[in-house]
Amino acid sequence: MNMVSRRGFIGGAAAGLAVTTLGAFGFGGAEQALAASVRPYKLSRTTETRNTCPYCSVSCGLLVYSLGDHSKNAKASVLHIEGDPDHPINRGTLCPKGAGLLDFVHAETRTKYPMYRKPGSDKLERVSWDWALDRIARLMKDDRDKNFVEKAANGTTVNRWLTTGMLCASASTNETAYITYKWARNMGMLALDNQARI
Ligand code: SF4
Repeated sequence: MNMVSRRGFIGGAAAGLAVTTLGAFGFGGAEQALAASVRPYKLSRTTETRNTCPYCSVSCGLLVYSLGDHSKNAKASVLHIEGDPDHPINRGTLCPKGAGLLDFVHAETRTKYPMYRKPGSDKLERVSWDWALDRIARLMKDDRDKNFVEKAANGTTVNRWLTTGMLCASASTNETAYITYKWARNMGMLALDNQARI
């Protein structure tokens, strides 16, 4: 059975409409030329990757198109992002924030690696992931050792760690969210939140 994807159908319908209109205006000879030029759409030689919008808890599905076909001499670069029409949440739609994701990807101010500002310094410096994770772990351990509360004033066991909080990402998967929640609560952390407040 010959299956036509939804996007393929819409693209074909648009091309058909343009060709029919040209024909109605008497440019019959242009029909084949137009169809031939429309067929290889500008995205046809790009790599299509499915992803999730990082902004909010709606977690709309995305199609990210990048230049380059994974060959070694091709430098990949994202050139177009649109809603995934086959995604059950957004069905191809994106809100204005999601629709502007291409600018987010290419923004010069986008944070791509850990940055650290030394005490007394006025500038951020790039550090390695290993260094950043070791530093975070060290500070958390020290703070927890110092401030962990096993029992409340009335003797009730509470096992609370109130001096450190955690801001999580709302666009993570269910599994990641579950593990993150379990980890933070097991440490005794009560201040746990994310930008979507879920
Ligand atoms: S496209 Fe808009 S609604 Fe969808 S996840 Fe992104 S920010 Fe949220």
